[in-house]
Amino acid sequence: MSVTQQDIEKIREYTRKDIPAEEIYTFPLILCDNEIDRDGEKFSSDALGRLAELFLGKTGIFDHNMSSKDQTARIYETEIVRDPSRRAADGEIYTYLSAKAYMLRSEKNKELIDEIDAGIKKETSVSCSVGSVRCSVCGKDMRKGECSHIRGRTYAGKKCFGVLSDPLDAYEWSFVAVPAQRNAGVVKSFRPHETAADADELREEYRESVISCAARLIPSVKSEVIAQICDSLPLKLLKEFRNSLKADASRSLPLAPQLAGKAQGEKQNFNEYRI
Ligand SMILES: [Zn+2]
Repeated sequence: MSVTQQDIEKIREYTRKDIPAEEIYTFPLILCDNEIDRDGEKFSSDALGRLAELFLGKTGIFDHNMSSKDQTARIYETEIVRDPSRRAADGEIYTYLSAKAYMLRSEKNKELIDEIDAGIKKETSVSCSVGSVRCSVCGKDMRKGECSHIRGRTYAGKKCFGVLSDPLDAYEWSFVAVPAQRNAGVVKSFRPHETAADADELREEYRESVISCAARLIPSVKSEVIAQICDSLPLKLLKEFRNSLKADASRSLPLAPQLAGKAQGEKQNFNEYRI
């Protein structure tokens, strides 16, 4: 994607200084859509519109190397796109939140930029909080236990799912590059020179992530128990465990005041990665 003067002006709002166009790299991504996800939830169209505002200026990370500061990007433009040629599972016109992000070019992220340019398919996960989860059948807030409908079941021809409504804040997004032809067995490794030390570091990283997600999703299970489970898993399985939990926790819902406080803390930590 070539950088236009318009891009530069928008990006300048975040860099607070003039950066030459050749030092800036921009790329498009899709943050989220109105499709029903595997948790039986979807964003309402209004929610997508609000998220378009909330995600402006938010930084994201590339999942395969979270520790590197050079691999963070920031969203400088968002847009709601409706695709009338496609329908979401509930019959609504397929609508998605598209964004443009920028990174500052450096020696360290050259390879990553080449991968993005090569058209490697990307998957994005977002983290945000919403004010309510409305039942698609009766309209009541499912989190408050106001309705007895069960996600995934059908009531008088109406499928029950949760409509994520009234977004309160957007925290972060992450960007996972996956091979475009995954089904064809083409596997591209992003860690070609993995050493034992790298593996230890990864294990630690995954374990921390699992403990943090579990505290949110299954708060009654002690963190020591979660840590032991993590330690008993081979690295590959631990990674899978982490990814699944992360996906489930990605739309972190402030179920209780202490969780809302935690989300705030995470947000502040994340600011350290700002570019
Ligand atoms: Zn209901």
